[in-house]
Amino acid sequence: MPLVTWGDRGKGFDMDTAVVGSRPIDSVLTNAGGRLRPSQAEAEAAVRTLIEWAGDDPEREGLAGTPERVVRAYEEFFAGYNEDPVALLSTTFEETAAYDEMIVLRDIRLESHCEHHIVPILGKAHVGYLPAGRVVGISKLARLVEVFAKRMQIQEALTSQIADTIQEVLKPRGVGVVIEAAHQCITTRGIRKPGVSMITSRMLGSFRDDSATRRQFLAMIGSPRSGSNGS
Ligand SMILES: [Zn+2]
Repeated sequence: MPLVTWGDRGKGFDMDTAVVGSRPIDSVLTNAGGRLRPSQAEAEAAVRTLIEWAGDDPEREGLAGTPERVVRAYEEFFAGYNEDPVALLSTTFEETAAYDEMIVLRDIRLESHCEHHIVPILGKAHVGYLPAGRVVGISKLARLVEVFAKRMQIQEALTSQIADTIQEVLKPRGVGVVIEAAHQCITTRGIRKPGVSMITSRMLGSFRDDSATRRQFLAMIGSPRSGSNGS
């Protein structure tokens, strides 16, 4: 099977000639569940249907290019399905016994989409760990957050996935992840509560078991709400 990633599609790619067997190359791409991914044309048709459902005319001038733009935007919003977060950390950690103090990356810009309404979740993530021999560059921690954020998510799962992957790959003495974010499905529709943000946390190892470690982490991320919920 030719190796074509989701992001390559449409960039100088001739859909008429690129075929595998009798199927367009587009349709041999599979998604996370192993199911066939719909073609770009099918995705654009779905957007046109939603425009009509909303009450507008997908043929009018201003909307003519919208289905294609929405499909392109989805490629960016959901690029995280194309990346393996475990591989991201596994290939980049360094073995070092020299540093065993807490490492914290705070205020990582977070842009995700809620899986219930597919509208933005915007906020910040804070990630900390106590290394036990393995450390990873801070850019990789930010990338890890992004790989999980660029999927359809609920904030609780996103928080856990980031922490659990760091635990699995780096095997640190402890991990803490705190996310504070606003959900546009709450601020712009439904109960409409602008200004409300949700805080979730996942603490593993010494971050869970040792209150002094947890306090140190929360102080380092500058959390005024140190009693963050969940764990
Ligand atoms: Zn939602």
